[in-house]
Amino acid sequence: MNAFNEIKFNAPTVIFVLLLLFGLPFLVGLLVQYNYIQDLERVSNERLTLYEMTLESELQKYEYLPYLISENGKVSTFLAKGGDQLPINKFLYRVNTIAGSSVVYIIGTNGIVRAASNWDMPKNFINLDLSFRPYFKDAMSGKEGKFFGVGITAGEPGFYTSHPIIHKGNIIGVAVAKIALSPLEHLWREGGETLFVSDSNGVIVLTSRPNWKYKTLTPLDAAILKRIHDREHYPGFQLKHLPSYSRTRLGSVEELTIGKERFLNNARGIPGTDWKISYLTPQGPLWERTLGISLTTFVLLGLGILTLLFFRERQQKKLSRQQAVEASNIRNMNRQLALEIEERKRTEHELRAAQEELVQAGKLAALGEMATAIAHELNQPIAAVKTYIASCRLMLKRDKLDDLDPTLKKVSDLGDRMAKVTGQLKSFARRSLDMNVEFDLRQAIKEAMNLMKHQFLVENCYLRLSMPGHPVLILGDRMRLEQVLINLFRNALDALQETESPFIGVKLSMENDMAVIRVWDNGPGIAEEVGKKIFEPFVTTKKEGIGVGLGLSISFKIIKDMKGNFLVANRAPHGAEFFVQIPLSKNQQKRES
Ligand code: ADP
Repeated sequence: MNAFNEIKFNAPTVIFVLLLLFGLPFLVGLLVQYNYIQDLERVSNERLTLYEMTLESELQKYEYLPYLISENGKVSTFLAKGGDQLPINKFLYRVNTIAGSSVVYIIGTNGIVRAASNWDMPKNFINLDLSFRPYFKDAMSGKEGKFFGVGITAGEPGFYTSHPIIHKGNIIGVAVAKIALSPLEHLWREGGETLFVSDSNGVIVLTSRPNWKYKTLTPLDAAILKRIHDREHYPGFQLKHLPSYSRTRLGSVEELTIGKERFLNNARGIPGTDWKISYLTPQGPLWERTLGISLTTFVLLGLGILTLLFFRERQQKKLSRQQAVEASNIRNMNRQLALEIEERKRTEHELRAAQEELVQAGKLAALGEMATAIAHELNQPIAAVKTYIASCRLMLKRDKLDDLDPTLKKVSDLGDRMAKVTGQLKSFARRSLDMNVEFDLRQAIKEAMNLMKHQFLVENCYLRLSMPGHPVLILGDRMRLEQVLINLFRNALDALQETESPFIGVKLSMENDMAVIRVWDNGPGIAEEVGKKIFEPFVTTKKEGIGVGLGLSISFKIIKDMKGNFLVANRAPHGAEFFVQIPLSKNQQKRES
């Protein structure tokens, strides 16, 4: 699949297919025709040789007869001295009968037949004047004569062969044998062959087609016709020409049309004569065969192309089906993906919500821890308020109104102090809604430390705080940042449980465009098993019920939300140090630059 499917049905392809469809059958036809003509040429050559040989042998068979007769002493004596004709006639009759020729006879020097084998037939040759016959003239000039012509008495065509009769060096007459060639023609006809023998003028003298006999292939001009007439070659026959013409030559054969028939003509001269023998092969089968093969090729090719088109169509349908299936698979996958994305978004949302909850939960836990501190923090002022109020009542009873006001002032101050404590609590507990507020990190640190003050005291922990004298402004959620710091302090305090002189250091500084908060302690440092996983959720070394391993992971998320970094390292000789880096706000950056 291929290359075939790649075929595009554009104009050049269509032209190529049409050329193939019509050109190939044509070429195949030509090839077949060429081969057929080659075969025909070979076969007709063989046939021609065969018929030529039979004709030659037929003619040669009687060639010796005139010679034998001329050698006969009685014949020459009869011609030289005269005498009784009958014995000579009888002698010629015997020779003719034994040889199987048509007729034998002798002619005197004046051209008059002196004796003949048919002397006792009604149309005998005796006393016929044959001085005009070429074979007589040839023999009289000392040569052997050969001639095809029609007999003037019986009108029968025949081949005449003659020999001079010589007596004491002089030609005293001519011996002639006539051979009828009609049995040969009969044989040809019976063999179903089409052939003819034509003389030097193109007159057909022998043929398997009786109606072609004594016809010419081309019209003869008047001079030739007159000469033939004078010599009485074919007396009684009008030498009409056949409606024939020759066309192209194909190798050694030529195309010939006679009447409505078309032949391939293979012609050859017969040695020793001026005759030509022509073997004709009907051309019908050639054209039928060529046309048949061309049509078959055309049909097969057409079928081939149709089959190819059919398979191509099927392949394309299969392909588009496959593509449709693939497209549907992709659609399904997309749907699946969309669902998964939706699912992930939902999960993320849930996670965020869970984180919020956890932050809140973390705060509540710290709140719980702070409850004691708050109680402690509030108990003392409440006790003081009670005492002051009791004093006030006593003053009222004793009418010492002047002392009342300062005491009530102290009560009011204590109320303010308590309001501050509860205010802090409120701000810690609430969820932050505003994530991007510019605030001073120093205040956040102070606030976080304030909230943890009680724990630091209880744990007897030494604190060191170092901060710049100017505001360090960042953009973010102050409450959440405080949560991070509280978490760091809480962890440090937990880690310092076994440390003799617990110490927590806090340093705020500005480095480049970042605010950096360092929180360190002199505890045992980060345990090896925690290592790099420290910011992952639920990683804890604390006892069950004390830690759940969420503090740092939530803190990490909070700092990342503020586009900051959260790092940890162990300190030498011992202790852990946390680094919180948060980008300074634009205002702060401008101020610095
Ligand atoms: P939790 O406090 O519930 O264990 P955290 O995420 O806050 O969860 O802390 C994870 C762990 O990190 C702690 O269990 C502890 O092992 C380690 N860790 C945190 N801070 C310190 C520190 N200052 N010194 C030593 N280890 C610490």
